[in-house]
Amino acid sequence: MMMLAAPSSPSGSFSSFGVYIGRFEPPHLAHLAVMEEALKQVDCLIIVLGSAQSPRTIKNPFTASERAQMILEMLSQAGIDPGRVRWVPVRDHLYDEQAWIDEVKTKVYKVIRAASPVEAPPHTPILIGHIKDESSYYLHHFPEWQFMPTKVISPLSATTVRNAYFSQPASEEWRELVPVAVSQFLGAFAHTREYQALQQDYAYLKNQSNDIQLEIAVILFASEQAKDAVWFISRESHPNQGTWSLPITELQRHETAAMCALRIAIEQLDTDPSLLHVEQGKLFDAPSRSLRGRVITYAIPVWTTDQQTDLLHTASEKGKARWISIEELSSRPELFFEDHHEIVHEIVQYFLKRPL
Ligand code: NAD
Repeated sequence: MMMLAAPSSPSGSFSSFGVYIGRFEPPHLAHLAVMEEALKQVDCLIIVLGSAQSPRTIKNPFTASERAQMILEMLSQAGIDPGRVRWVPVRDHLYDEQAWIDEVKTKVYKVIRAASPVEAPPHTPILIGHIKDESSYYLHHFPEWQFMPTKVISPLSATTVRNAYFSQPASEEWRELVPVAVSQFLGAFAHTREYQALQQDYAYLKNQSNDIQLEIAVILFASEQAKDAVWFISRESHPNQGTWSLPITELQRHETAAMCALRIAIEQLDTDPSLLHVEQGKLFDAPSRSLRGRVITYAIPVWTTDQQTDLLHTASEKGKARWISIEELSSRPELFFEDHHEIVHEIVQYFLKRPL
């Protein structure tokens, strides 16, 4: 697996920079045309790989490294020196838009400083992109950067590529929409276990309803004093089997949300309710948060009182559920279901007033 180090280039210093933000899941012919267009205008193109460290899903099937590899190979095949490209992987911050903007800017300026001549004043990059619909709203977040709308006009979309790739991998339909290098990568990836799991998720999710659904998630903290570990369950069903999920459930007709959270906490830890404290919850409603439909989650913190050492050493049979430290949660978001790592992060910030 390739790492996202800056490619070495004989011409390490550049005098103009472009920024191209996208998911590139996967990169297609229109993305390539936009990159070629940008590299006619600037010396160095900084590609912001969005949704980095997401778990593999049918919307984000490839890791940031895999996407970088596909882009490098397609640029090389198109005769472009890959040394003119720099990478900025940025994870999503669904509940903190400003954190996402700040991360993009900080990382872009770091790359520019490292790739500019020492004596040069800091460059302001040109932002390239296509405001196709409301999903491109983020291109308005960088008013201090000159915006260069792409002249590439194409109806191509990565969603069309993914739909064809997951429904009919042997067909030519998706191959015609991507550069040869990408087609080769996708052809090889179609033989992996990861592809098989994604294909099963695709079949499962195809008929999901878009009706608004409400679910309760329980954030079970190890203790009030040491709120640094949270109880997670390894998912046994589609989608995203094997990712770590907060305990989630439907509210029952006779319950309040707090009663529901307490019921789940008792079930999970097999403990006495007097050892548990239920807090007020918070709603998580980012429209793109779930591929299961329009799912809204009310997340409720519950913590074990005092130092229940027995409870803290609890782990379910066969490791299907366990305490996970906040540290692990923050460093490996790709291991977690949907936005659950962000939910815990937000709850910790919001209720416990303790920065991570
Ligand atoms: P994308 O791969 O769909 O598109 C990348 C760029 O290519 C866009 O400018 C798009 O308009 C352009 N493009 C796509 N098809 C084209 C075509 N046929 N012709 C011409 N141009 C075309 O990527 P995206 O989903 O727009 O990527 C945005 C990334 O930023 C995502 O990862 C998203 O999660 C992230 N983001 C995160 C936050 C947050 O976390 N708060 C906020 C905004 C954006």
